[in-house]
Amino acid sequence: MTDCIFCRIIEGRLPARKLYEDGEVVAFWDARPASPIHILIVPRLHIPTLNDVPEGDHIVDHLFRVAKKIAQEVGVAQSGYRFFINVNRGGGQVVFHLHAHLVAGNDFGTLFIKAGVAVAVLWRKLVGLVRPQGHPRLDPICANLMESN
Ligand code: 5GP
Ligand code: ZN
Repeated sequence: MTDCIFCRIIEGRLPARKLYEDGEVVAFWDARPASPIHILIVPRLHIPTLNDVPEGDHIVDHLFRVAKKIAQEVGVAQSGYRFFINVNRGGGQVVFHLHAHLVAGNDFGTLFIKAGVAVAVLWRKLVGLVRPQGHPRLDPICANLMESN
């Protein structure tokens, strides 16, 4: 596709810092990294979104395999990394040529997820503290229900 940024990078018509390529995919550094390590793994074939990958196609498997290999090469396989695919606008997709992100380091996405989990845990604890431990009318009904199952 002529107007697709990633097709242009793959065809060498737009510069990018490539770090891996084979017959099916090309990987290059993200131009606006969300983290010290932010690599995009992109199929050579122009497939707009994950939803457009035909049933049984092995390209997504291949993206996983290449991500594992690159993670080893850039030294984050053991320390850890995130591998994700944004799908459509609601899923944060901006470039409509299927691609996987390999992100490692202290990126804002990871910090945001960790903060979210911490708030959820705290919320559950608070709700547990204020919630009454039993209900005089409903408890016998629940017990009966449990017994009848
Ligand atoms: P999406 O949000 O579509 O999943 O991710 C698109 C990614 O492509 C973004 O992280 C963005 O920074 C990156 N990107 C957009 N344009 C270019 C470009 O011209 N070159 C490179 N290397 N990355 C790009
Ligand atoms: Zn494309």
